[in-house]
Amino acid sequence: MIPPPPLIPIPIPQARQSFDPSWPVHSLGKMDVLCPDCGALHWMVERLSKSSNINPCFGMCCYQGKIKLSPLHNLPPELDTLFRDQTPQAKGF
Ligand SMILES: [Zn+2]
Repeated sequence: MIPPPPLIPIPIPQARQSFDPSWPVHSLGKMDVLCPDCGALHWMVERLSKSSNINPCFGMCCYQGKIKLSPLHNLPPELDTLFRDQTPQAKGF
């Protein structure tokens, strides 16, 4: 009888490995830069390369103001309550 072939460990790709807190963490900083056209929040690194850090412009939200959406309708009262309240049920929502 022929013995089974030896098991060869297959390396696990890094993306599938468990998180190790000793790994360096990449941070983009705060996502607190407002698009001047639509008010969407961005990271500064998302600005268009032709714009400056002082007057950043963004293309991925409203295409530099070229796309304008109509205002949203008011939420139904039940959803509005869940959206704004601080109750455990609303926070879970
Ligand atoms: Zn925008």
